[in-house]
Amino acid sequence: MLVNASEMLKKAKAGHYAVGQFNINNLEWTKAILLTAQELSSPVILGVSEGAGKYMTGYKTVVGMVKGMMEELNITVPVALHLDHGSYEGCLKCVEAGFTSIMFDGSHYPIEENVAKTKELVKIVAENGMSLEAEVGSIGGEEDGVVGMGECADPKECKMVADLGIDFLAAGIGNIHGKYPANWQGLSFETLDAIQQLTGDMPLVLHGGTGIPADMIKKAIDLGVSKINVNTECQLAFAAATRKYIEEGKDEQGKGFDPRKLLAPGTEAIKATVKEKMELFGSVGKA
Ligand SMILES: [Zn+2]
Repeated sequence: MLVNASEMLKKAKAGHYAVGQFNINNLEWTKAILLTAQELSSPVILGVSEGAGKYMTGYKTVVGMVKGMMEELNITVPVALHLDHGSYEGCLKCVEAGFTSIMFDGSHYPIEENVAKTKELVKIVAENGMSLEAEVGSIGGEEDGVVGMGECADPKECKMVADLGIDFLAAGIGNIHGKYPANWQGLSFETLDAIQQLTGDMPLVLHGGTGIPADMIKKAIDLGVSKINVNTECQLAFAAATRKYIEEGKDEQGKGFDPRKLLAPGTEAIKATVKEKMELFGSVGKA
């Protein structure tokens, strides 16, 4: 069932587990994530970055693919189709295309402008029955060519943005996108706790879920994180399985060059990664 992410994340916050956002890049990604969610009876959020949206030829293609696939595969668990790190213009395009959820990333604007644009989107999103994620404090790592340091959000700014009528809030707590460097300081639970104290029932979002140790993930969920974004880890799993297939020369055996065979190990690897994350996040059986 294609729904917005508001209800599933409220439930997750109340039930002390988190729903995974897994970013999609193509048909194989989407299929692997939907099938795993259905098999494990878990709610799920399909994340689409602006770059991935462009790669898939546009947001309308994405909506058509996801809707068609859910029908053909009989996917009955709650699924949200969510724009990841959207610009203001990207958000409007996804509203029009039929996404059920958007993230407006206004973290690079001064807080006043972030607030003004978020307010406008709160209205538009409500009119369309969608859910809205906002971000305070930039999340480190590389985001479309811009490298952030993994700063910690100001809890008072978080409270201000949370009160605008958004559905869930991403706050930087030392997390970064992509692989974590060896000298990474870890998550700032002090910051997370302070944010949660001020924002109450608001579901909090942890970006950059790849490579955060399991005990830190569990602690973050205890402190109010209800949505965890996973992207790089599925890419690494897909690439490793595909590399293995080719290195073993399987593409040269029989019809091993058939894309349906060539891409199968990578697709299975995504499934295994998603399963592992859903188990860690505690969302299995919560659909
Ligand atoms: Zn992110």
